[in-house]
Amino acid sequence: MNNTEMTKTTNEFPNKLYLTDDEMPKAWYNLRSDMKKKPDPLINPETGNPVTLEELTHIFTEEGARQELDEDTQFIPIPEEIQKEYSKFRPAPLIRATDFEKSLGTSAKIYYKFEGNNTSGSHKLNSAIAQAYYAKKEGLTHLTTETGAGQWGTALAMSCQKMGLDLTVYMVKCSYEQKPFRREIMKTFGGKVVPSPSMETEAGRKILAETPDNPGSLGVAISEAVEAAVKTPATKYVLGSVLNQVLLHQTIIGLETQAAMKKYGIKPDIIVGCAGGGSNLGGFMAPFLGEKLRGEADYKFIAAESASCPSFTKGEFKYDYCDTGRVTPMAKMYTMGYDFIPPTNHAGGLRYHGMSPILSEIYHQGLMEAHAYEQHDVFEANTLFARAEGILPAPESGHAIKAVVDQARKYPASEGESDGPVIVFCLSGTGFFDMVAYGKYNNGEL
Ligand SMILES: *Cc1c(COP(=O)(O)O)cnc(C)c1O
Repeated sequence: MNNTEMTKTTNEFPNKLYLTDDEMPKAWYNLRSDMKKKPDPLINPETGNPVTLEELTHIFTEEGARQELDEDTQFIPIPEEIQKEYSKFRPAPLIRATDFEKSLGTSAKIYYKFEGNNTSGSHKLNSAIAQAYYAKKEGLTHLTTETGAGQWGTALAMSCQKMGLDLTVYMVKCSYEQKPFRREIMKTFGGKVVPSPSMETEAGRKILAETPDNPGSLGVAISEAVEAAVKTPATKYVLGSVLNQVLLHQTIIGLETQAAMKKYGIKPDIIVGCAGGGSNLGGFMAPFLGEKLRGEADYKFIAAESASCPSFTKGEFKYDYCDTGRVTPMAKMYTMGYDFIPPTNHAGGLRYHGMSPILSEIYHQGLMEAHAYEQHDVFEANTLFARAEGILPAPESGHAIKAVVDQARKYPASEGESDGPVIVFCLSGTGFFDMVAYGKYNNGEL
């Protein structure tokens, strides 16, 4: 290969796709506006009727409630203060994984959008900032939430600190003890971290009276966080996935990806993401799904989920609660059941019982594929990626990587130099806080 050819190849498929500040998206994209058949409405379980805006404001911020119900506005402006916070860690890098391609021996061109480049370590900060901003603007002083694995709690602690809000995180007691690093980041950003069950709530005191050594569970932590929010003035409980408003905020991921790929003249063929409650997947895919729904382009969409909580591939499409605490309305979605307790699994963030109602409807219409992956295969793919690209992926993100590996291997490099598809995937977070799980994989214990 001579120099001219090398330059040509590099220009056609550059390694880093940059956006300038001016090119940054200034509005979130509302996928529902382009769906002919919209997701079924949220239902108030007490009345059996679609929830009203007024009812929703009992649980969510007013702007959050409006966003939850808005099916028509195509673009919703991102307030300047949120844009300013985004600009500290966005645009997120969009990079071609050339060494990963080589290690797979594929002619596919693989790009990844890396969302782990902020201290909270994942995409969750994109929605945490927005939710904290609206809470502050509407006069709230305090938020509560629960955390198991710790990513959401960390993102929210950073956001509440920035917006001048108090935050109480009810952290499942065994995680509180086993994940001291997560706990201490939240405290560093000013969050109050309470091991759950605690003596601070009736729900916690009741459980501790019966079983003083109770290690806690997500269900109990949610009950405590909800009770604290209801009983404390100017306080609300917030969620980090599944909801329409969360997916909306996460569209910043896909909008940046779409803008950068357009700028460099690269058209993706296959778009891949991992799915827990669907917020990074939906936010990443939404602008591309919009193009498909409007008949402007066609893509193959692949959702990668955990075999231990396979909502898309094994769940039922029905009305269920969005949260284990049953404070949110019911949504029509693919679900394992709100009381489903997944087997212990390190992909903590993929253990939501339900799937975003928007993505559930998209999947139901046959616009997207879904595959479920086992833990061992996910860590194998992650290790391959880490060694090639020098980024340690979160176990959750590894599900997307495993899906990419399976797609790329269908196009061996030996069978045609440049015929492979362009694959782009969302690398939702870093694996720095999951070294116990990596240790188990390295020791052959997974
Ligand atoms: C929380 C989390 C997920 C799953 O949540 P979604 O709402 O499905 O995006 C995926 N990856 C990482 C790194 C996470 O922290």
